[in-house]
Amino acid sequence: MALTLHGISASNGIAIGKLHVLRRGMLDVPERRLSGPQVGGEIARFKAALRTASRELKAIKARIPSDTRAEIAAFIDTHLLMLEDTALTTGTLQAIRTHRCNAEHALKLQRDAIVSVFDAMDDAYLRTRRDDVDHVVNRVQRILSGGRTPVFVTRPDDPQVIFADDLAPADTVLMQDGVAAFLTEYGGPLSHTAILARSLGVPAVVGLHDARAHLRDDELVIVDGRQGVVVVAPDPATLRHYRARQKDLMRIRAARASLRKTPAVTADGEPVTLQANVEFESELALAIRDGAAGVGLYRTEYLFLNRSSPPTEAEQQEVYAGVVRAAKGGPVTIRTLDLGADKQVDGARPDAPISQNPALGLRAIRLCLKEPGLFKPQVRAILRASAHGPVRMMIPMISSTSEFEQVLELVRACKRELAEDGVPFDPATPLGGMIEVPAAAVCADLFAREMDFLSIGTNDLIQYTIAVDRVDDEVSYLYDPLHPAVLRLISTIIKAGRRAGIPVALCGEMAGDARYTRLLLGMGLKEFSVHPNALLEIKQSILEAHAAKSRTLTKRILSTARRTRREALLNELNQ
Ligand code: PEP
Ligand code: MG
Repeated sequence: MALTLHGISASNGIAIGKLHVLRRGMLDVPERRLSGPQVGGEIARFKAALRTASRELKAIKARIPSDTRAEIAAFIDTHLLMLEDTALTTGTLQAIRTHRCNAEHALKLQRDAIVSVFDAMDDAYLRTRRDDVDHVVNRVQRILSGGRTPVFVTRPDDPQVIFADDLAPADTVLMQDGVAAFLTEYGGPLSHTAILARSLGVPAVVGLHDARAHLRDDELVIVDGRQGVVVVAPDPATLRHYRARQKDLMRIRAARASLRKTPAVTADGEPVTLQANVEFESELALAIRDGAAGVGLYRTEYLFLNRSSPPTEAEQQEVYAGVVRAAKGGPVTIRTLDLGADKQVDGARPDAPISQNPALGLRAIRLCLKEPGLFKPQVRAILRASAHGPVRMMIPMISSTSEFEQVLELVRACKRELAEDGVPFDPATPLGGMIEVPAAAVCADLFAREMDFLSIGTNDLIQYTIAVDRVDDEVSYLYDPLHPAVLRLISTIIKAGRRAGIPVALCGEMAGDARYTRLLLGMGLKEFSVHPNALLEIKQSILEAHAAKSRTLTKRILSTARRTRREALLNELNQ
Protein backbone atom coordinates (compact mmCIF):
# COMPACT_ATOMS: atom_id res chain seq x y z
CA MET A 1 0.00 0.00 0.00
CA ALA A 2 1.29 3.39 -0.91
CA LEU A 3 2.34 5.63 1.96
CA THR A 4 3.23 9.33 1.84
CA LEU A 5 5.83 10.76 4.22
CA HIS A 6 6.37 14.49 4.75
CA GLY A 7 9.69 16.15 5.51
CA ILE A 8 11.47 19.40 4.70
CA SER A 9 12.47 20.26 1.15
CA ALA A 10 16.26 20.42 0.87
CA SER A 11 16.94 20.04 -2.87
CA ASN A 12 14.42 20.28 -5.70
CA GLY A 13 13.73 17.68 -8.35
CA ILE A 14 11.90 14.37 -8.64
CA ALA A 15 13.59 11.01 -8.22
CA ILE A 16 12.06 7.58 -8.64
CA GLY A 17 14.19 4.69 -7.45
CA LYS A 18 14.82 1.84 -5.06
CA LEU A 19 15.61 2.57 -1.44
CA HIS A 20 18.81 1.80 0.38
CA VAL A 21 18.39 2.26 4.13
CA LEU A 22 21.67 2.91 5.92
CA ARG A 23 21.84 1.33 9.35
CA ARG A 24 21.42 3.60 12.34
CA GLY A 25 24.56 5.43 13.28
CA MET A 26 26.72 3.39 10.97
CA LEU A 27 27.38 3.55 7.28
CA ASP A 28 28.08 0.42 5.29
CA VAL A 29 31.58 -0.90 4.92
CA PRO A 30 33.24 -2.38 1.87
CA GLU A 31 34.06 -6.08 1.73
CA ARG A 32 37.43 -7.27 0.43
CA ARG A 33 38.67 -10.84 0.01
CA LEU A 34 42.25 -11.54 1.11
CA SER A 35 44.84 -13.95 -0.17
CA GLY A 36 46.32 -16.33 2.45
CA PRO A 37 49.50 -14.31 3.07
CA GLN A 38 47.51 -11.08 3.56
CA VAL A 39 45.62 -12.44 6.57
CA GLY A 40 48.48 -11.86 9.05
CA GLY A 41 48.78 -8.20 8.02
CA GLU A 42 45.02 -7.69 8.39
CA ILE A 43 45.09 -9.14 11.90
CA ALA A 44 47.91 -6.77 12.86
CA ARG A 45 45.94 -3.85 11.37
CA PHE A 46 42.86 -4.74 13.43
CA LYS A 47 44.89 -5.06 16.65
CA ALA A 48 46.55 -1.69 16.01
CA ALA A 49 43.10 -0.10 15.48
CA LEU A 50 41.95 -1.52 18.84
CA ARG A 51 45.00 -0.01 20.55
CA THR A 52 44.35 3.39 18.94
CA ALA A 53 40.67 3.26 19.96
CA SER A 54 41.68 2.49 23.52
CA ARG A 55 44.18 5.39 23.53
CA GLU A 56 41.50 7.76 22.19
CA LEU A 57 38.99 6.75 24.84
CA LYS A 58 41.55 7.12 27.64
CA ALA A 59 42.42 10.60 26.33
CA ILE A 60 38.73 11.57 26.33
CA LYS A 61 38.35 10.23 29.87
CA ALA A 62 41.37 12.23 31.05
CA ARG A 63 39.77 15.44 29.73
CA ILE A 64 36.46 14.97 31.55
CA PRO A 65 36.21 17.71 34.21
CA SER A 66 36.20 16.39 37.79
CA ASP A 67 32.72 17.78 38.49
CA THR A 68 31.11 15.82 35.65
CA ARG A 69 28.51 13.23 36.60
CA ALA A 70 30.10 9.88 37.45
CA GLU A 71 27.94 8.02 34.88
CA ILE A 72 29.76 9.76 32.05
CA ALA A 73 33.17 8.45 33.04
CA ALA A 74 31.59 5.07 33.72
CA PHE A 75 30.17 5.14 30.21
CA ILE A 76 33.68 5.47 28.77
CA ASP A 77 34.90 2.68 31.05
CA THR A 78 32.18 0.46 29.56
CA HIS A 79 33.44 1.25 26.08
CA LEU A 80 37.04 0.53 27.12
CA LEU A 81 35.95 -2.83 28.52
CA MET A 82 34.12 -3.64 25.30
CA LEU A 83 37.32 -3.04 23.36
CA GLU A 84 38.90 -5.83 25.40
CA ASP A 85 35.88 -8.10 25.28
CA THR A 86 36.62 -11.35 23.50
CA ALA A 87 33.19 -11.33 21.85
CA LEU A 88 34.28 -8.30 19.84
CA THR A 89 38.01 -8.88 19.48
CA THR A 90 38.52 -12.63 19.26
CA GLY A 91 35.32 -12.98 17.27
CA THR A 92 36.52 -10.46 14.69
CA LEU A 93 39.99 -11.99 14.48
CA GLN A 94 38.39 -15.37 13.90
CA ALA A 95 36.17 -13.92 11.17
CA ILE A 96 39.21 -12.43 9.40
CA ARG A 97 40.84 -15.87 9.41
CA THR A 98 37.77 -17.92 8.52
CA HIS A 99 36.30 -15.68 5.83
CA ARG A 100 39.67 -14.30 4.67
CA CYS A 101 38.12 -10.87 4.57
CA ASN A 102 39.16 -7.35 5.52
CA ALA A 103 38.99 -6.24 9.16
CA GLU A 104 36.14 -3.77 8.49
CA HIS A 105 33.89 -6.48 7.10
CA ALA A 106 34.84 -8.97 9.83
CA LEU A 107 34.06 -6.37 12.49
CA LYS A 108 30.70 -5.69 10.86
CA LEU A 109 29.83 -9.41 10.89
CA GLN A 110 30.79 -9.64 14.54
CA ARG A 111 28.82 -6.51 15.41
CA ASP A 112 25.72 -7.90 13.73
CA ALA A 113 26.07 -11.16 15.68
CA ILE A 114 26.42 -9.35 19.03
CA VAL A 115 23.57 -6.96 18.32
CA SER A 116 21.20 -9.80 17.43
CA VAL A 117 21.83 -11.29 20.89
CA PHE A 118 21.04 -7.93 22.54
CA ASP A 119 17.93 -7.50 20.42
CA ALA A 120 16.59 -10.85 21.58
CA MET A 121 16.83 -9.87 25.27
CA ASP A 122 13.70 -9.11 27.27
CA ASP A 123 15.43 -6.54 29.42
CA ALA A 124 14.92 -3.04 27.96
CA TYR A 125 18.05 -1.71 29.67
CA LEU A 126 20.23 -4.44 28.20
CA ARG A 127 18.73 -3.80 24.78
CA THR A 128 19.96 -0.21 24.99
CA ARG A 129 23.52 -1.50 25.37
CA ARG A 130 23.49 -2.31 21.69
CA ASP A 131 24.03 1.44 21.15
CA ASP A 132 27.26 1.15 23.15
CA VAL A 133 28.35 -1.69 20.89
CA ASP A 134 27.70 0.53 17.87
CA HIS A 135 29.64 3.43 19.35
CA VAL A 136 32.67 1.26 19.98
CA VAL A 137 32.43 -0.48 16.62
CA ASN A 138 32.06 2.85 14.79
CA ARG A 139 35.13 4.21 16.51
CA VAL A 140 37.20 1.22 15.41
CA GLN A 141 35.73 1.34 11.88
CA ARG A 142 36.71 4.99 11.57
CA ILE A 143 40.27 4.22 12.64
CA LEU A 144 40.49 1.23 10.28
CA SER A 145 39.48 3.42 7.37
CA GLY A 146 42.23 5.94 8.12
CA GLY A 147 39.91 8.55 9.59
CA ARG A 148 37.35 8.16 6.85
CA THR A 149 33.78 7.45 7.79
CA PRO A 150 33.03 4.03 6.32
CA VAL A 151 30.67 4.75 3.56
CA PHE A 152 27.98 3.19 1.44
CA VAL A 153 29.33 1.97 -1.88
CA THR A 154 27.26 3.57 -4.61
CA ARG A 155 26.10 1.92 -7.81
CA PRO A 156 26.38 4.49 -10.64
CA ASP A 157 24.60 2.14 -13.06
CA ASP A 158 21.61 1.72 -10.73
CA PRO A 159 21.16 4.94 -8.70
CA GLN A 160 19.41 4.42 -5.38
CA VAL A 161 17.54 6.62 -2.95
CA ILE A 162 19.61 6.75 0.23
CA PHE A 163 17.95 7.05 3.61
CA ALA A 164 20.04 7.77 6.71
CA ASP A 165 19.48 9.19 10.17
CA ASP A 166 21.72 12.04 9.23
CA LEU A 167 24.52 12.56 6.76
CA ALA A 168 27.62 14.61 7.36
CA PRO A 169 28.96 16.57 4.34
CA ALA A 170 32.00 14.28 4.49
CA ASP A 171 29.75 11.24 3.90
CA THR A 172 27.63 12.88 1.25
CA VAL A 173 30.60 13.92 -0.83
CA LEU A 174 31.74 10.31 -1.09
CA MET A 175 28.34 9.32 -2.47
CA GLN A 176 28.12 11.81 -5.27
CA ASP A 177 27.81 9.29 -8.08
CA GLY A 178 25.08 6.75 -8.19
CA VAL A 179 22.63 8.36 -5.77
CA ALA A 180 19.13 9.20 -7.03
CA ALA A 181 18.09 11.15 -3.91
CA PHE A 182 19.03 11.71 -0.28
CA LEU A 183 16.55 11.31 2.57
CA THR A 184 17.40 11.96 6.20
CA GLU A 185 15.55 11.71 9.44
CA TYR A 186 17.26 14.80 10.87
CA GLY A 187 19.10 17.88 9.55
CA GLY A 188 17.94 21.26 8.30
CA PRO A 189 17.62 22.51 4.71
CA LEU A 190 20.59 24.86 5.12
CA SER A 191 23.02 22.18 6.33
CA HIS A 192 26.08 21.72 4.15
CA THR A 193 24.75 18.28 3.24
CA ALA A 194 21.60 19.89 1.81
CA ILE A 195 23.67 22.51 -0.02
CA LEU A 196 25.83 19.75 -1.46
CA ALA A 197 22.75 17.86 -2.67
CA ARG A 198 21.58 21.02 -4.47
CA SER A 199 25.01 21.50 -6.02
CA LEU A 200 25.04 17.92 -7.20
CA GLY A 201 21.53 18.32 -8.59
CA VAL A 202 20.25 15.45 -6.43
CA PRO A 203 16.75 15.81 -4.90
CA ALA A 204 16.77 15.70 -1.09
CA VAL A 205 14.24 15.69 1.73
CA VAL A 206 15.38 16.10 5.34
CA GLY A 207 13.68 16.05 8.74
CA LEU A 208 11.67 12.88 7.95
CA HIS A 209 11.07 12.08 11.59
CA ASP A 210 10.22 8.47 12.40
CA ALA A 211 10.37 7.49 8.74
CA ARG A 212 12.76 4.60 9.36
CA ALA A 213 9.97 2.33 10.59
CA HIS A 214 8.22 2.60 7.19
CA LEU A 215 11.21 2.12 4.92
CA ARG A 216 12.71 -1.13 3.64
CA ASP A 217 15.65 -1.82 1.36
CA ASP A 218 14.78 -2.19 -2.33
CA GLU A 219 11.30 -0.71 -1.97
CA LEU A 220 10.31 1.66 -4.79
CA VAL A 221 9.95 5.29 -3.70
CA ILE A 222 9.17 8.62 -5.31
CA VAL A 223 11.00 11.65 -3.90
CA ASP A 224 9.55 15.08 -4.60
CA GLY A 225 12.35 17.36 -3.43
CA ARG A 226 10.45 20.63 -3.90
CA GLN A 227 7.43 19.55 -1.83
CA GLY A 228 9.50 17.59 0.73
CA VAL A 229 7.37 14.52 0.05
CA VAL A 230 8.30 10.83 -0.22
CA VAL A 231 5.82 8.30 -1.62
CA VAL A 232 6.64 4.73 -0.57
CA ALA A 233 5.44 1.84 -2.78
CA PRO A 234 3.43 4.12 -5.12
CA ASP A 235 0.40 2.81 -7.00
CA PRO A 236 0.56 2.85 -10.83
CA ALA A 237 -1.48 6.08 -11.18
CA THR A 238 0.83 8.00 -8.77
CA LEU A 239 3.86 6.64 -10.57
CA ARG A 240 2.48 7.81 -13.91
CA HIS A 241 1.74 11.25 -12.47
CA TYR A 242 5.30 11.71 -11.18
CA ARG A 243 6.92 10.34 -14.32
CA ALA A 244 4.98 12.96 -16.29
CA ARG A 245 6.12 15.69 -13.87
CA GLN A 246 9.71 14.49 -14.22
CA LYS A 247 9.38 14.93 -17.98
CA ASP A 248 7.87 18.43 -17.52
CA LEU A 249 10.82 19.46 -15.36
CA MET A 250 13.21 18.20 -18.01
CA ARG A 251 11.34 20.23 -20.63
CA ILE A 252 11.53 23.41 -18.50
CA ARG A 253 15.26 22.88 -18.04
CA ALA A 254 15.80 22.32 -21.74
CA ALA A 255 13.84 25.50 -22.56
CA ARG A 256 16.07 27.53 -20.24
CA ALA A 257 19.15 26.32 -22.11
CA SER A 258 18.49 29.07 -24.66
CA LEU A 259 19.44 31.63 -21.99
CA ARG A 260 22.97 30.33 -21.57
CA LYS A 261 24.63 33.06 -23.58
CA THR A 262 22.12 35.84 -22.78
CA PRO A 263 23.72 38.58 -20.66
CA ALA A 264 22.21 38.90 -17.15
CA VAL A 265 20.57 42.32 -17.42
CA THR A 266 17.31 43.36 -15.74
CA ALA A 267 14.30 44.40 -17.84
CA ASP A 268 15.14 48.06 -17.05
CA GLY A 269 18.73 47.62 -18.20
CA GLU A 270 20.75 47.09 -14.98
CA PRO A 271 23.60 44.64 -15.58
CA VAL A 272 24.02 41.90 -12.95
CA THR A 273 27.03 39.64 -12.35
CA LEU A 274 25.83 36.05 -12.05
CA GLN A 275 28.43 33.60 -10.75
CA ALA A 276 28.50 30.03 -9.46
CA ASN A 277 29.15 28.45 -6.07
CA VAL A 278 31.24 25.31 -6.50
CA GLU A 279 32.75 22.66 -4.29
CA PHE A 280 34.58 20.65 -6.94
CA GLU A 281 36.27 21.39 -10.23
CA SER A 282 33.92 18.87 -11.85
CA GLU A 283 30.93 21.20 -11.25
CA LEU A 284 32.56 24.03 -13.15
CA ALA A 285 32.02 22.69 -16.64
CA LEU A 286 28.25 22.80 -16.11
CA ALA A 287 28.47 26.27 -14.55
CA ILE A 288 30.53 27.71 -17.41
CA ARG A 289 28.28 26.04 -19.98
CA ASP A 290 25.29 27.72 -18.33
CA GLY A 291 26.98 31.10 -18.58
CA ALA A 292 28.45 31.70 -15.08
CA ALA A 293 30.68 34.78 -15.08
CA GLY A 294 33.22 33.05 -12.85
CA VAL A 295 33.04 31.52 -9.39
CA GLY A 296 31.66 33.62 -6.53
CA LEU A 297 32.33 30.97 -3.90
CA TYR A 298 34.67 28.01 -4.11
CA ARG A 299 34.33 26.04 -0.87
CA THR A 300 37.77 24.54 -0.25
CA GLU A 301 36.82 22.47 2.81
CA TYR A 302 35.92 19.43 0.72
CA LEU A 303 39.58 19.00 -0.11
CA PHE A 304 40.26 18.51 3.58
CA LEU A 305 37.47 16.07 4.45
CA ASN A 306 37.75 12.29 4.44
CA ARG A 307 41.47 12.15 5.01
CA SER A 308 43.67 11.83 8.05
CA SER A 309 46.06 14.69 7.25
CA PRO A 310 45.53 18.00 5.41
CA PRO A 311 46.56 18.33 1.75
CA THR A 312 50.01 19.81 1.15
CA GLU A 313 50.57 23.26 -0.37
CA ALA A 314 51.59 21.63 -3.67
CA GLU A 315 48.45 19.47 -3.75
CA GLN A 316 46.23 22.46 -3.02
CA GLN A 317 48.00 24.63 -5.57
CA GLU A 318 47.35 22.02 -8.23
CA VAL A 319 43.65 21.75 -7.40
CA TYR A 320 43.11 25.54 -7.20
CA ALA A 321 45.02 26.14 -10.43
CA GLY A 322 42.81 23.46 -12.05
CA VAL A 323 39.67 25.32 -10.94
CA VAL A 324 41.10 28.65 -12.18
CA ARG A 325 41.88 27.16 -15.59
CA ALA A 326 38.45 25.48 -15.79
CA ALA A 327 36.80 28.88 -15.12
CA LYS A 328 38.02 29.96 -18.57
CA GLY A 329 39.11 33.47 -17.61
CA GLY A 330 36.25 34.22 -15.20
CA PRO A 331 37.41 35.26 -11.72
CA VAL A 332 37.51 32.51 -9.09
CA THR A 333 36.74 33.50 -5.51
CA ILE A 334 38.57 30.95 -3.40
CA ARG A 335 37.27 30.85 0.15
CA THR A 336 39.84 29.92 2.76
CA LEU A 337 39.03 26.99 5.01
CA ASP A 338 35.67 27.02 6.74
CA LEU A 339 36.10 23.96 8.93
CA GLY A 340 34.28 23.43 12.19
CA ALA A 341 30.51 23.42 12.91
CA ASP A 342 29.00 20.73 10.64
CA LYS A 343 32.26 20.21 8.71
CA GLN A 344 34.69 18.53 11.08
CA VAL A 345 37.97 17.06 9.89
CA ASP A 346 38.80 13.60 11.07
CA GLY A 347 42.19 13.43 12.72
CA ALA A 348 43.19 17.08 12.11
CA ARG A 349 42.99 18.09 15.74
CA PRO A 350 42.71 14.82 17.67
CA ASP A 351 43.43 16.40 21.05
CA ALA A 352 41.04 19.32 20.71
CA PRO A 353 38.38 19.57 23.41
CA ILE A 354 34.86 18.76 22.29
CA SER A 355 33.01 22.03 21.65
CA GLN A 356 29.56 22.42 23.20
CA ASN A 357 28.63 24.98 20.55
CA PRO A 358 30.64 24.23 17.42
CA ALA A 359 28.91 26.89 15.30
CA LEU A 360 30.05 29.51 17.82
CA GLY A 361 33.42 27.87 18.40
CA LEU A 362 36.73 27.57 16.66
CA ARG A 363 35.32 27.62 13.17
CA ALA A 364 36.62 29.01 9.83
CA ILE A 365 39.07 31.92 10.17
CA ARG A 366 39.24 31.45 13.94
CA LEU A 367 40.60 27.96 13.46
CA CYS A 368 42.94 29.10 10.67
CA LEU A 369 44.46 31.91 12.74
CA LYS A 370 45.00 29.51 15.61
CA GLU A 371 46.62 26.91 13.35
CA PRO A 372 48.98 28.75 10.98
CA GLY A 373 50.43 25.36 10.03
CA LEU A 374 47.06 24.65 8.41
CA PHE A 375 46.38 28.16 7.09
CA LYS A 376 49.69 29.29 5.64
CA PRO A 377 50.04 26.50 3.05
CA GLN A 378 46.53 27.31 1.88
CA VAL A 379 47.18 31.05 1.55
CA ARG A 380 50.39 30.34 -0.40
CA ALA A 381 48.58 27.82 -2.62
CA ILE A 382 45.79 30.32 -3.39
CA LEU A 383 48.31 33.04 -4.23
CA ARG A 384 50.21 30.63 -6.47
CA ALA A 385 46.98 29.72 -8.27
CA SER A 386 46.61 33.42 -9.17
CA ALA A 387 49.42 32.93 -11.69
CA HIS A 388 46.97 30.86 -13.78
CA GLY A 389 44.11 33.37 -14.02
CA PRO A 390 42.09 35.87 -11.98
CA VAL A 391 41.72 34.82 -8.34
CA ARG A 392 40.10 36.52 -5.35
CA MET A 393 40.83 35.34 -1.80
CA MET A 394 37.84 35.33 0.55
CA ILE A 395 37.89 34.94 4.33
CA PRO A 396 34.87 33.28 6.01
CA MET A 397 33.25 34.13 9.35
CA ILE A 398 35.16 37.31 10.01
CA SER A 399 33.76 38.93 13.16
CA SER A 400 36.27 41.66 14.01
CA THR A 401 38.58 43.94 12.04
CA SER A 402 41.54 42.77 14.13
CA GLU A 403 41.04 39.27 12.71
CA PHE A 404 41.26 40.75 9.26
CA GLU A 405 44.44 42.65 10.19
CA GLN A 406 46.03 39.34 11.21
CA VAL A 407 44.99 37.82 7.91
CA LEU A 408 46.47 40.77 6.02
CA GLU A 409 49.75 40.39 7.86
CA LEU A 410 49.93 36.69 7.06
CA VAL A 411 49.02 37.25 3.40
CA ARG A 412 51.73 39.94 3.13
CA ALA A 413 54.30 37.58 4.68
CA CYS A 414 53.33 34.83 2.21
CA LYS A 415 53.65 37.27 -0.71
CA ARG A 416 57.13 38.34 0.48
CA GLU A 417 58.26 34.72 0.73
CA LEU A 418 56.91 33.80 -2.70
CA ALA A 419 58.50 36.88 -4.28
CA GLU A 420 61.85 36.11 -2.65
CA ASP A 421 61.70 32.55 -3.95
CA GLY A 422 60.76 33.76 -7.43
CA VAL A 423 57.44 31.86 -7.36
CA PRO A 424 54.90 33.46 -9.74
CA PHE A 425 51.66 34.93 -8.35
CA ASP A 426 49.50 38.02 -8.85
CA PRO A 427 50.50 40.55 -6.16
CA ALA A 428 47.21 42.40 -6.71
CA THR A 429 45.05 39.38 -5.80
CA PRO A 430 41.94 40.97 -4.19
CA LEU A 431 41.36 40.02 -0.56
CA GLY A 432 37.80 40.18 0.76
CA GLY A 433 35.61 38.80 3.46
CA MET A 434 32.34 37.01 3.94
CA ILE A 435 29.89 39.00 5.96
CA GLU A 436 27.99 36.30 7.78
CA VAL A 437 28.25 37.28 11.43
CA PRO A 438 25.88 40.05 12.61
CA ALA A 439 28.80 41.92 14.24
CA ALA A 440 30.47 42.23 10.84
CA ALA A 441 27.20 43.16 9.14
CA VAL A 442 26.44 45.98 11.56
CA CYS A 443 29.98 47.33 11.08
CA ALA A 444 30.13 46.56 7.35
CA ASP A 445 31.33 50.13 6.70
CA LEU A 446 34.43 49.50 8.83
CA PHE A 447 35.17 46.24 7.02
CA ALA A 448 34.53 47.82 3.62
CA ARG A 449 37.39 50.26 4.27
CA GLU A 450 39.86 47.40 4.70
CA MET A 451 38.58 44.84 2.21
CA ASP A 452 38.70 44.70 -1.58
CA PHE A 453 35.22 43.14 -1.77
CA LEU A 454 32.43 41.79 0.45
CA SER A 455 30.31 38.71 0.02
CA ILE A 456 27.16 38.16 2.06
CA GLY A 457 26.83 34.65 3.48
CA THR A 458 23.14 34.58 4.29
CA ASN A 459 23.15 30.92 5.35
CA ASP A 460 25.14 31.83 8.42
CA LEU A 461 23.99 35.42 8.70
CA ILE A 462 20.41 34.18 9.16
CA GLN A 463 21.53 31.45 11.57
CA TYR A 464 23.46 33.89 13.77
CA THR A 465 21.01 36.80 13.53
CA ILE A 466 17.88 34.86 14.45
CA ALA A 467 19.82 32.41 16.69
CA VAL A 468 18.50 29.41 14.77
CA ASP A 469 20.78 26.44 14.13
CA ARG A 470 20.87 25.87 10.37
CA VAL A 471 21.27 22.09 10.77
CA ASP A 472 18.52 21.59 13.34
CA ASP A 473 15.23 20.69 11.70
CA GLU A 474 13.31 21.29 14.94
CA VAL A 475 13.86 25.04 14.61
CA SER A 476 13.96 25.32 10.83
CA TYR A 477 10.48 26.92 10.91
CA LEU A 478 12.21 29.97 12.42
CA TYR A 479 14.81 30.18 9.65
CA ASP A 480 13.41 33.14 7.75
CA PRO A 481 15.33 35.01 5.05
CA LEU A 482 12.49 37.57 5.09
CA HIS A 483 12.99 38.48 8.76
CA PRO A 484 13.34 42.29 8.84
CA ALA A 485 16.53 41.96 10.92
CA VAL A 486 18.10 39.86 8.16
CA LEU A 487 16.89 42.12 5.36
CA ARG A 488 18.04 45.26 7.14
CA LEU A 489 21.50 43.75 7.66
CA ILE A 490 21.72 42.76 4.00
CA SER A 491 20.72 46.27 3.01
CA THR A 492 23.31 47.79 5.39
CA ILE A 493 26.06 45.65 3.85
CA ILE A 494 25.10 46.53 0.27
CA LYS A 495 25.05 50.25 1.13
CA ALA A 496 28.41 50.04 2.93
CA GLY A 497 30.00 48.43 -0.11
CA ARG A 498 28.51 51.03 -2.44
CA ARG A 499 29.78 53.92 -0.30
CA ALA A 500 33.27 52.41 -0.14
CA GLY A 501 33.22 51.77 -3.88
CA ILE A 502 33.84 48.02 -3.58
CA PRO A 503 31.80 45.13 -5.02
CA VAL A 504 29.27 43.31 -2.83
CA ALA A 505 28.06 39.84 -3.76
CA LEU A 506 25.58 37.51 -2.10
CA CYS A 507 26.65 33.86 -2.12
CA GLY A 508 24.26 32.30 0.43
CA GLU A 509 21.45 30.01 -0.74
CA MET A 510 19.09 32.99 -0.78
CA ALA A 511 20.77 34.15 -4.01
CA GLY A 512 19.82 30.86 -5.70
CA ASP A 513 16.16 31.06 -4.70
CA ALA A 514 14.18 32.82 -7.44
CA ARG A 515 11.58 34.04 -4.93
CA TYR A 516 14.15 36.52 -3.60
CA THR A 517 15.73 37.78 -6.85
CA ARG A 518 13.58 40.91 -7.17
CA LEU A 519 13.85 41.66 -3.48
CA LEU A 520 17.66 41.52 -3.61
CA LEU A 521 17.74 43.62 -6.77
CA GLY A 522 15.43 46.07 -5.02
CA MET A 523 18.00 46.37 -2.24
CA GLY A 524 20.65 47.23 -4.81
CA LEU A 525 22.45 43.90 -5.08
CA LYS A 526 24.47 43.61 -8.29
CA GLU A 527 26.31 40.29 -7.83
CA PHE A 528 24.67 36.92 -7.26
CA SER A 529 26.55 33.67 -6.70
CA VAL A 530 24.37 30.56 -6.87
CA HIS A 531 24.75 26.79 -7.13
CA PRO A 532 25.25 25.73 -10.75
CA ASN A 533 21.82 24.15 -11.09
CA ALA A 534 20.14 27.46 -10.27
CA LEU A 535 22.06 29.65 -12.74
CA LEU A 536 19.53 29.68 -15.56
CA GLU A 537 16.47 29.96 -13.33
CA ILE A 538 18.01 33.00 -11.59
CA LYS A 539 19.05 34.48 -14.92
CA GLN A 540 15.46 34.20 -16.11
CA SER A 541 14.25 36.00 -12.95
CA ILE A 542 16.82 38.76 -13.49
CA LEU A 543 15.75 39.21 -17.11
CA GLU A 544 12.10 39.54 -16.05
CA ALA A 545 12.80 41.88 -13.10
CA HIS A 546 12.46 45.64 -13.07
CA ALA A 547 15.09 46.73 -10.53
CA ALA A 548 13.95 50.34 -10.12
CA LYS A 549 10.28 49.35 -9.70
CA SER A 550 11.24 46.70 -7.12
CA ARG A 551 12.67 49.31 -4.74
CA THR A 552 9.39 50.67 -3.35
CA LEU A 553 7.89 47.30 -2.42
CA THR A 554 11.27 46.15 -1.08
CA LYS A 555 11.33 49.10 1.32
CA ARG A 556 7.85 48.16 2.57
CA ILE A 557 8.90 44.55 3.16
CA LEU A 558 11.86 45.77 5.26
CA SER A 559 9.55 47.63 7.60
CA THR A 560 6.69 45.13 7.87
CA ALA A 561 6.38 43.33 11.19
CA ARG A 562 4.03 40.46 10.31
CA ARG A 563 5.50 37.49 8.53
CA THR A 564 2.30 36.73 6.62
CA ARG A 565 2.15 40.34 5.43
CA ARG A 566 5.78 40.23 4.31
CA GLU A 567 5.04 37.03 2.37
CA ALA A 568 2.05 38.72 0.74
CA LEU A 569 4.15 41.74 -0.25
CA LEU A 570 6.83 39.43 -1.66
CA ASN A 571 4.20 37.69 -3.78
CA GLU A 572 3.04 41.10 -5.02
CA LEU A 573 6.66 42.01 -5.86
CA ASN A 574 7.07 38.79 -7.81
CA GLN A 575 3.95 39.22 -9.93
C1 PEP B 1 26.86 31.21 3.90
O1 PEP B 1 27.03 31.09 5.11
O2 PEP B 1 25.90 31.83 3.41
C2 PEP B 1 27.80 30.61 2.95
C3 PEP B 1 27.70 30.84 1.66
O3 PEP B 1 28.75 29.78 3.42
P1 PEP B 1 28.48 28.29 3.94
O4 PEP B 1 27.10 27.89 3.52
O5 PEP B 1 29.54 27.43 3.36
O6 PEP B 1 28.61 28.42 5.44
MG1 MG C 1 28.90 30.46 5.89
